[in-house]
Amino acid sequence: MKPVIALVGRPNVGKSTLFNRLTKSRNAIVADFAGLTRDRHYGDGRLGDREFICIDTGGFEPDSTTGIVKEMAKQTRQAVAEADAVVFVVDVRTGLSGQDQDIARYLRQANKRIFLAVNKAEGMSDSPLLAEFHELGLGEPHPISAAHGQGIRSLLDAVLEGFDGAEEFGAGPEDETTIRIAVAGRPNVGKSTLINTWLGEERLVAFDMPGTTRDAISVPFERNGQKFQLIDTAGLRRKGKVFEAIEKFSVVKTLQAIADANVVLLLIDATQGVTDQDAHIAGYILDSGRAVVVAINKWDAVDSYQRETLMRSIETRLGFLKFATILHISALKRQGLAPLWNAMADAYASAYKKMTTPVLTRLVQEAVQHQTPKKVGHFRPKMRYAHQGGMNPPIVVIHGNSLDHVTEVYKRYLEGRIRAHYKLTGTPLKIELRSSK
Ligand code: GDP
Ligand code: GDP
Repeated sequence: MKPVIALVGRPNVGKSTLFNRLTKSRNAIVADFAGLTRDRHYGDGRLGDREFICIDTGGFEPDSTTGIVKEMAKQTRQAVAEADAVVFVVDVRTGLSGQDQDIARYLRQANKRIFLAVNKAEGMSDSPLLAEFHELGLGEPHPISAAHGQGIRSLLDAVLEGFDGAEEFGAGPEDETTIRIAVAGRPNVGKSTLINTWLGEERLVAFDMPGTTRDAISVPFERNGQKFQLIDTAGLRRKGKVFEAIEKFSVVKTLQAIADANVVLLLIDATQGVTDQDAHIAGYILDSGRAVVVAINKWDAVDSYQRETLMRSIETRLGFLKFATILHISALKRQGLAPLWNAMADAYASAYKKMTTPVLTRLVQEAVQHQTPKKVGHFRPKMRYAHQGGMNPPIVVIHGNSLDHVTEVYKRYLEGRIRAHYKLTGTPLKIELRSSK
């Protein structure tokens, strides 16, 4: 699973600037769960082929009466608890402050790997000003400039060292025939209810529970001959025959489970409609490229008027997931659950669809014959051939000339043709254009 890095430090040292730099490296929407855990931001980062989750603890109000600010202390504690490694950010321009000392005192006893980043040090990698930060007793200071991108790589190399082994966290079957699913959704949408309903079903054979790693469970089971593995998002713990949530909601667990899954089942609460949090989580899933099925739960508890309003709000607020199958279920009353399995299996099959070069090339040529891309200035985009560039999500790479001029609308048209041919549902499809001139 992706390691989690928390950025902590007093206000104005440059935490958010660093957060933006770390998470923008991945042409991605930052998953901003601001409405949920008010002052912590979560984002995906990447260094080379190593991925991580970054937490920013910025955005608290200093309160001079209490010394170390109460809210800051709370944010810092929660982020540190969730993190595998902590980057403590200080500011070389203001020098060491009493607040820095307070935070350092807390971090020294937190029993985590701590890295000291001395920010705003553009052009001062050897400056004597860095020396005073040794006093914090947190090891060698790493001079960085979050604003100018200096020293970031060497800081991250140090932080991510030792996190390369996937086997440390991996539990359970890891083969192509097992569909790894994560049930995602905000608190109280019915995740635990659904999981317990599933695992209580007779047709579903749950294997022995594997040992828990970092409090996370993953439950392998089989249904109608198809192997599944359920990745926990809810912090579930087995209690007798049922699972109960040991913590109400963990953003980190959700993000890790989504990254780890083949298919994400996104639950929406019919009685609440589509909230900002739902849209954030949906955006994150889309951004991660995972296959997705949307299930509107508690369908039993809404009347026909509410149902209509809800379907309209899904269209407007989750329109960006329009490739996803949307189903109505009641986890509590056990209604509508069978179609979920087919939808998840279809999404999985679509995400891993094998597409050959001759077929893709023919599809693109047919699409062009049917509707040629517009000429821009002197350039008429010319598509020569296409091949598959990846799976989960499927990527189609189209080669040709002057392809920089192809419009987004035309790309969507191509996407639609390819989707229709392969009957892709529940997965994003990426089209990449490569021009040879
Ligand atoms: P936060 O409160 O810790 O999240 O700090 P911010 O990221 O909001 O940054 C506070 C201020 O420091 C802003 O004005 C930034 O532009 C500035 N800043 C951040 N990083 C750097 C840096 O590397 N060099 C310089 N000179 N300024 C920086
Ligand atoms: P979680 O936080 O996402 O795990 O949500 P829970 O499974 O704990 O469910 C939250 C509440 O919603 C509980 O009171 C459940 O009984 C209720 N609930 C879950 N599924 C349904 C459903 O399909 N219909 C109705 N009416 N209530 C449900």
